[in-house]
Amino acid sequence: MRLEDLAVSTPAGLCCPVGGFYIDPVRPVDKALITHAHSDHARPGHGAVLATRETLDLMRLRCGEDCAGSMQAVAYGETVQVGGVAVTFRPAGHVLGSAQICLERNGRRVVASGDYKNVADPTCAPFEPIACDLFISEATFGLPVFRHGDPAGEIAKLLQSVALFPERAHLVGVYALGKAQRVIALLRQAGYTRPIYLHGALDALTRYYVREGIDLGELRLARDAQKSEFAGAIVLCPPSAVKELWSRRFPDPVTSFASGWMRVRARARQRQIDLPLVISDHADWDGLTATIAQTGAGEVWVTHGEEDALVHWCQQRGLKARPLRIVGYGDEEEGSEPVGSEAPA
Ligand SMILES: [Zn+2]
Ligand SMILES: [Zn+2]
Repeated sequence: MRLEDLAVSTPAGLCCPVGGFYIDPVRPVDKALITHAHSDHARPGHGAVLATRETLDLMRLRCGEDCAGSMQAVAYGETVQVGGVAVTFRPAGHVLGSAQICLERNGRRVVASGDYKNVADPTCAPFEPIACDLFISEATFGLPVFRHGDPAGEIAKLLQSVALFPERAHLVGVYALGKAQRVIALLRQAGYTRPIYLHGALDALTRYYVREGIDLGELRLARDAQKSEFAGAIVLCPPSAVKELWSRRFPDPVTSFASGWMRVRARARQRQIDLPLVISDHADWDGLTATIAQTGAGEVWVTHGEEDALVHWCQQRGLKARPLRIVGYGDEEEGSEPVGSEAPA
């Protein structure tokens, strides 16, 4: 059994030829296995979709009830046979329902990571490293400059600013799926008990997390609140809303943005962010390299982001490695901002 029978890279995305399916395809296909519900991975229009129940729920919330011909839910750790390939979804620690997808046949094992992080997150199941022959890793933050640090320290910075400016609202830009709910949970872990205000675009996904049993404390919709309530308040909104008309309703707001990209100072300045918070739902450079080593894989394929540096790191360690260069990932969520030339070396 060759690894190429289990996984090949095609323009439509990662394909499993013997199983007759794709993983996170970027074009409509007959049979898709979906790692998580971010829009660049979970596209509408496939025939049959296999994913965790949470991912399927989130896809329906985001893309509508009829976003796929049929949907089948799989639990973490449950193995299903798809075209003679044993398929198992394991937690990826990225957002609620996110999974790595493990493919096995004739004693050979391939793991497609999807997006992942190997740090604690109170809003989703923790990442599990899986021993495999071929590991297909994302590389959104695949440069040594990206070291995310401790999210609790970033939340402490936000709370210090709130204490320092009790008359001002703090507007925090967050991605709607995953980051919004994690920032709220981190604030609660830090002992912040006041109501947290939400932009309407974050409401449905956040309510889904609450229905799934994740305690986020008291939440209020910003549009229902009196202007006087915003003094000293924390308001979460999509990143684009921080500088839009929407934000003008707040008294002299402090603008903030929670993202792994905030490690790059120029990027925070460019966005006119007063208070950059380095909080990411992707593994940083140390997380990526530690995870690759943990899998024990002799071969590594790198996709979704800064592929070349990680490929080089693998090759230096004697691993077979190559970039996949699949076009179409990173269109909406945290992976949406290519590092480009402005990232420091
Ligand atoms: Zn993602
Ligand atoms: Zn992604």
